[in-house]
Amino acid sequence: MTTRTDIANMIFPNVTETIADLQSKYPARSESVVTRVAPSPTGFMHLGNFYSGLIANKFATQDNGIFFIRIEDTDQKRLTEWAVDLILKIFGQYDLKISEGPIGQNGSDIGNYGPYTQSQRKDLYEVFVKHLIQQGLAYPCWMSESEIESTREQQMKLKITPGIYGNYSLWRNKTPEEIASKIQENPNFVIRFRSHWDITKRVVFEDMSRGKVSMIDNYNDIVVIKSDGLPTYHLAHIADDTLMRTTHVIRGEEWLTSVPLHLQLFGAFDLPAPKYCHIAPLLKTEDGNKRKLSKRKDPEANMEYFAQSGFARQGVIEYLLTIIDSSFEDRQKSNPDKNYHDYKINLEKLNTSWALVDPIKLQSVNNNYLSRISTEDLYNQSLEWAQEYRPSLAEIMLRDPEYTKAALGIERHTEKDPKRFTTYQDIETQLMFFFDDQRENLQATKPALPENLTSEIVSKFVAEYTQNINLTMTPEDWFAQLKEIGKKHGFATNNAEFKEGGYIGKTGDLAMFLRIQLCCASRTPDLYSVMKILGKERVITRLNK
Ligand code: GLU
Repeated sequence: MTTRTDIANMIFPNVTETIADLQSKYPARSESVVTRVAPSPTGFMHLGNFYSGLIANKFATQDNGIFFIRIEDTDQKRLTEWAVDLILKIFGQYDLKISEGPIGQNGSDIGNYGPYTQSQRKDLYEVFVKHLIQQGLAYPCWMSESEIESTREQQMKLKITPGIYGNYSLWRNKTPEEIASKIQENPNFVIRFRSHWDITKRVVFEDMSRGKVSMIDNYNDIVVIKSDGLPTYHLAHIADDTLMRTTHVIRGEEWLTSVPLHLQLFGAFDLPAPKYCHIAPLLKTEDGNKRKLSKRKDPEANMEYFAQSGFARQGVIEYLLTIIDSSFEDRQKSNPDKNYHDYKINLEKLNTSWALVDPIKLQSVNNNYLSRISTEDLYNQSLEWAQEYRPSLAEIMLRDPEYTKAALGIERHTEKDPKRFTTYQDIETQLMFFFDDQRENLQATKPALPENLTSEIVSKFVAEYTQNINLTMTPEDWFAQLKEIGKKHGFATNNAEFKEGGYIGKTGDLAMFLRIQLCCASRTPDLYSVMKILGKERVITRLNK
């Protein structure tokens, strides 16, 4: 007589270890919080992956726990070669420390709970499935695509809950003899979990951010091992998070409906389930409606977008923290010097229905961050950014670092601070006119002078102004002098005077002239500060042009 154990041995002749053996190989950890991020390396890194990774990372590290990375590469068709490196690079750039994973030299594993890449864990999954088969809780299945499809059609026609379960599963009730002979005839099969098939049963479980959740229990005989021998997500989740000793599974909401199945699987192995927290999807508003952030349509779905566009890493993280916790911004305002590592997050506070990605908010958070940091930090960060994304800007910034810093620093941290930098890209526009060669390039887009400023009037004014220019005065004295010289040339010093009539214009027109002539722009930081940084000689040369 053929037994279930015979079937298990036929399928997995080389598997001799038990789950208990594996558990002693990967013993319980001393940390009370162990979380992970488990990306599938299938292309660019989605903001959503980073977002849940950030939550898991903070949740672990704020409790001196472990945050590890596991690469979920069982869908071999969709793999992208460079994706793992990119994921690790991005976590590194944003200073989210990963303590275990394929993070060593040339992707070697660091940590005692590996391998950390699913495709290298096949033998471990086999121990789990062999156990299920021995217990009668899994069976091989040869149902073809067309058999599955016609079962579905039949169920739809009869208005029966669709799925492969109970008697709809053609191999579920075969005898071990029938299965044994089929294995010999056709080694191409999947392995299905044998679920109860009560479609009315409900299950209640606890989600860390949602509280009690009640759902229809799983009744499907889902596939646990695919025909290529690799596990599906479901089995891999049970085996990996058990052996890696994950305490908290923080993952996307798309997995919420799989929790009943996962709890059933943990039960089938008599293993404790971790705590779950399901993260709401990132949404975006379009034409007044909310929709999921799309990998195809939305550039900001790609993590690289933020660096390319010149957002500071800390700005991006602070922005994501405002989505994670609506009180973050207020807390941040009262502690402006704190780093994001200093904030604790509370999973119970997560918005469980959606998380809205708002580009305007991102800009404002980044602007606040860039406005807060020292000019030295602003220079260093933007230089690092420019070296990667705008080499020509980096070359300019490096010509005279002190000059550049002085230019960047105008009005920063003063009461009048116009918070000029929303992203590092703004540095480019705000810096160029300080450099003579770059200013030449701006000539083409130089704004026109006010009409009342004819070249004759202007040259007379310039002749006198350049004679008397003094950049060591106080701003008040400097402006008083401009008024005085202007008045001699027919420019009223205030509105009231101007209204009396007989003037060519006002002092403000002359300030605008200086601005346009010196900077080739009509909007610049504080004019006198700009002139002081340009220096007397440069100012005179530019005015005489
Ligand atoms: N690879 C899965 C995903 O990217 C991981 C989900 C999980 O964290 O368990 O959705």
